[in-house]
Amino acid sequence: MRAGFINLKNLFSQSLIYVTALSDYLYCPRKLFLAKRLGFVEPPKQALIFGSVKHEVMDQINKSEEEIVGSVTKDYSLQEITSVYKKKYYQLLINSLRSRKFMLKKLNIDPLLIFREAWPFFQREASFRAENLQSFIQEKKVYGKELWDALTPKLLTEFAVRSESLSLCGVIDRVEINQGLFTPVELKTGKAPKEGLWPNHRIQIAAYMLLLQDCQKKVNEGVVHYLDTNQRVKIVMNPFIQEEVIELIKKVNGLLSGHTLPKICEETKKCASCGLREQCFSLKGDC
Ligand code: SF4
Repeated sequence: MRAGFINLKNLFSQSLIYVTALSDYLYCPRKLFLAKRLGFVEPPKQALIFGSVKHEVMDQINKSEEEIVGSVTKDYSLQEITSVYKKKYYQLLINSLRSRKFMLKKLNIDPLLIFREAWPFFQREASFRAENLQSFIQEKKVYGKELWDALTPKLLTEFAVRSESLSLCGVIDRVEINQGLFTPVELKTGKAPKEGLWPNHRIQIAAYMLLLQDCQKKVNEGVVHYLDTNQRVKIVMNPFIQEEVIELIKKVNGLLSGHTLPKICEETKKCASCGLREQCFSLKGDC
């Protein structure tokens, strides 16, 4: 199987489908068809803008982390380490919002609303990284470059991965690497269900596990981290879920290469909040 890690810029490929298309299919096949096959574009909502800001900031923090870790000396308390991370996240968030100033104005979206939604998320991320770093320092008692070189788990964010053989690609929110073991982590707002994971979250994290495995990485489990409740829900890799992902890839490929417009889903709640509702209800039959 040919697979590998790639730069985000090189990720786009006509022949591959995104992992998010699998979860979109589970949400509503018709919506996926409207967007990917017929090219309808959902008007940008606050959530979409938050998503793009989040991706940009996480990508930038990855690039800055070596510098942050290198600046930590032995007199730093957990509070001080957290504050270094928070300052960096704050600066990156403000820069990201500034770069979208005109777009937000055009869409009549107040940047402050995005800030209010994003800032608690980045504060939690700052605390998570600071705690990880501090517990490592306490254990190894190393600093500067030595600390960066030895640091595990290393956290990679916005990690792009693709596989030609699976016809799949995606960008993983976070990968934790610990002694050669790769754990994909998907960050979600909201709460986990009473048991396990929501079906689309489950398939998404399983697909990332599969992609990492296909890149010859050792993967035992994946995690969905529900940010509102700070729950980390694990899923263990197994042949059944692998099979499920592969079946779903086939279904999505079949849908997107065909001409059959799927039926309207029966869930009024979904349709009520759907950004493609107008286009959806105006279409009948096959394309
Ligand atoms: S309006 Fe309902 S059926 Fe139509 S695309 Fe949206 S979610 Fe699917």
